[in-house]
Amino acid sequence: MSLISIIIPAYNEEENIQLVYEQVKKEFAGIPYEFEMLFIDDASTDETLAKIKQLTAKTPKVKYISFSRNFGKEAAIYAGLRHVSGRAVIIMDADLQHPPSLIPQLIQGFEEGFDQVIARRNRNGEHFMRKWLSSTYYRLINKIVDVKLEDGVGDFRLLSDRAVKAVLSLNEGERFSKGLFSWIGMEQKIVDYDNVLRENGQTKWTISKLFNYGLDGLISFNNRPLRICFYSGAIILMLSLIYSAVTFIQILQNGIDVPGYFTIITAVLILGGIQLLSLGVIGEYIGRIYYETKKRPPYLIQETNIVNGADYEKNKSRIYPIRHHRRNQYL
Ligand code: UDP
Ligand code: MG
Repeated sequence: MSLISIIIPAYNEEENIQLVYEQVKKEFAGIPYEFEMLFIDDASTDETLAKIKQLTAKTPKVKYISFSRNFGKEAAIYAGLRHVSGRAVIIMDADLQHPPSLIPQLIQGFEEGFDQVIARRNRNGEHFMRKWLSSTYYRLINKIVDVKLEDGVGDFRLLSDRAVKAVLSLNEGERFSKGLFSWIGMEQKIVDYDNVLRENGQTKWTISKLFNYGLDGLISFNNRPLRICFYSGAIILMLSLIYSAVTFIQILQNGIDVPGYFTIITAVLILGGIQLLSLGVIGEYIGRIYYETKKRPPYLIQETNIVNGADYEKNKSRIYPIRHHRRNQYL
């Protein structure tokens, strides 16, 4: 029987750990697949880790990784992908907003040969401001970035082991998973579901976190903002050259009406153009350096019950299991 790995990032989800495990288990009772469940505890401050450990005591299907501090959901997903060994992987939230009842459909898509089976939600029951903001954001961003980002599509999806390898081969530090999943392409299938509201605990998104997430999406996938500087510099420079030439010809024909005007205005315009242009060039270089220097490990592991195995085969480079230390030593 093939193994399916379920990756669940969890940050302060004590009420949900047991629930999500039960529901996933129920779904697998009806299909001919084994499952393993990898919880990534993103340095929760409540009883999340304790709850996970209670599960691991009961069943070997449950594994966990606990981070040394809160590294965020993106890092948690990455850690998850690096440490699982299933034929396919399903990424889902701990808060049951990603209904486990969709698992059989996701797996069916995998059986049909798709490398990514993507769950897409509608936005029923969401605040209208957030709905509007999100849909505007997606409309705008798709005009600018190189990968296609779709509204209602998140991290809830199944990836085949091939797709997982592809995602892992993108080794940038600042990860914007949604963009990475889209970037790797491959055969994709979409499964729709109704939006579910969170039952226990609270969302970890604040308005400012959402904005930052939006900005990450824009920045991580292209250097167009830098290019804008370059092009606007070039255009201004060109226009000011034309303008100076025209004014100069007028002066030759009609003589000077305001003394000093021509010299000042040409100097300001041309210099301004050149400055913007060079800023753009510098920006390009900084952009490249920025892409190249992001070499920090995206997370540090405080504690885990995974014996090295899976990770070593997939990715020999980095693993930092820091064990037997007190958590706050790294804060
Ligand atoms: N999460 C995490 N680290 C964080 C914030 C969130 O691992 O710093 C997890 C969280 O436990 C949940 C998932 O990411 O399983 C989605 O978070 P949340 O429900 O707060 O986001 P929303 O569903 O509101 O978009
Ligand atoms: Mg949620």
